[in-house]
Amino acid sequence: MMAGEEGADAYVVMGNPVGHSQSPFIHAEFARQFGHAITYRALHVEIGSFRASVEAFRSQGGRGANVTLPFKEEAFALSTQPSARARQAGAVNTLHFDAERIRGDNTDGVGLVNDLEQNLGFPLAGRDILLVGAGGAARGVIGPLLAVSPARLVVANRTASRAQALRRHFDDRIEACGLDRLPAGPFDLVLNATSASLSDRAPPIATAPLRSGACAYDMMYAAEPSPFMRWAEDAGASMVSDGTGMLVEQAAESFRLWRGVRPRTGAVIDALRRRLRDSSSR
Ligand code: NAP
Repeated sequence: MMAGEEGADAYVVMGNPVGHSQSPFIHAEFARQFGHAITYRALHVEIGSFRASVEAFRSQGGRGANVTLPFKEEAFALSTQPSARARQAGAVNTLHFDAERIRGDNTDGVGLVNDLEQNLGFPLAGRDILLVGAGGAARGVIGPLLAVSPARLVVANRTASRAQALRRHFDDRIEACGLDRLPAGPFDLVLNATSASLSDRAPPIATAPLRSGACAYDMMYAAEPSPFMRWAEDAGASMVSDGTGMLVEQAAESFRLWRGVRPRTGAVIDALRRRLRDSSSR
């Protein structure tokens, strides 16, 4: 049996939980732009079953998968051809099944950089950047952020040792500290890569180290501004954004890897924002 409907290439997003994923909506919009026949659905995977689920999907003819929490490291381990970006991150969010090969890539970082530079018009070269958080999302974006040559990249985490571990993994171009030991800014960009917003909290950023014209960016996305975004407004950020654009941009890069064409993202970001607002007002 094929994983997709007749004649359609099949893709999934695998995670746990995954029911809330917006990726099926985004990829349906992308496929419509090109008239591609694909199916894309959310696949809940039990902890401990990731490898078996990937193999089952491949054996049914599945063409590719996005991977979300908590399986990105396992997806990296499963990749027979990890890209340079994936090796740098040690995590994979895009699997591409290519005959016997399993290509693995990480599109989170390029998604963030594209949203900031192209959609929000905030060039990153020469900037002083504070990245708050040291989990999977932070790990995925550090390489692409370094690639655009910021003046400074400080990684600050609640648990300082995890930030230090990222510094060892990358190189001494990043500084690492606990959230309670923030260096004096000011910063041009503060990125929230923590999951604090999920529990309706802002990470405790003790001072307000923002430079005039600064941008604050929460990788989380929701209909309403997050506590971090509200903190940033109060701290005087000139531009405040959530991660809706990053989500669509990382998906566009996955689509390009799978389908060889790059979707336009602007209208899809707008449509996703409307969809998030509509579902929260119901
Ligand atoms: P993760 O691996 O579980 O890491 C969670 C991070 O948040 C850790 O650094 C943790 O610090 C920190 N944290 C949690 N609660 C905190 C609190 N109350 N105060 C301060 N720090 C706190 O999660 P992840 O995969 O990195 O995801 C992080 C966020 O990025 C999520 O909101 C996710 O939705 C978002 N994300 C968005 C996109 C997108 O496309 N927009 C892509 C990827 C991820 P400790 O180390 O001290 O525990």
